[in-house]
Amino acid sequence: MAYRVIAIDGPAGSGKSTVARAVADRLGLEYLDTGAMYRGVAFAVLQRGVDPTDVAAVADVARSVTLEVTRSACIVDGEDASAAIRGAEVTTAVTAVAANPEVRVEMVARQRSWVVERGGGVMEGRDIGSVVFPEAELKVHLIASPEVRAQRRAAETPGLDVVAVAADIRRRDVADSSRAASPLVEASGAEVIDTSDLAIPEIVDAIVGLLS
Ligand code: C5P
Repeated sequence: MAYRVIAIDGPAGSGKSTVARAVADRLGLEYLDTGAMYRGVAFAVLQRGVDPTDVAAVADVARSVTLEVTRSACIVDGEDASAAIRGAEVTTAVTAVAANPEVRVEMVARQRSWVVERGGGVMEGRDIGSVVFPEAELKVHLIASPEVRAQRRAAETPGLDVVAVAADIRRRDVADSSRAASPLVEASGAEVIDTSDLAIPEIVDAIVGLLS
């Protein structure tokens, strides 16, 4: 394909974000967190007073929202939502928003344009290798034990209780894997890496090594 795309998928706490950023740095490619896009739509849905389960109204929000997702920020309709998109309210609402097929059509189109505009990039999410870029140069599916994933997420946010985080991760695993529209699956041809006992540089080395 004309574009150099590295697809990194996996569930919450599998190490995707840290690893994808580091891989992008090593390869001199841009990086896109597609989860931040779904979170940005969920933020806009809440800001506009829309019910996250109202399929038609949420689809309208997805089509009309202005999203600027950069490495360090998520700007939604001109408002800096970088902190809010990581909060409990958005984390709860994003599940229904991301299960909405029309939202996914809109986000996938924006993700493909992002790649075309930049000539490639490292993209992380749930459906990059299966739906957004099945023809990516490399598809990686990261996994990790539920305990390790909960500990990582809890460590990112001081004050978060690991038991509550584990429960939320379980809820999102079930929802993301069982939804009808683009469920989290191992894309065909994806390299599966269990990150439970690996340090970040080891995972990055493994991924970059797959390219050579
Ligand atoms: O990656 P992160 O946990 O921030 O993603 C938030 C939510 O967005 C996920 O729980 C999932 O429901 C959704 N998502 C998705 N497809 C993607 C990225 C994220 O459905 N490509």
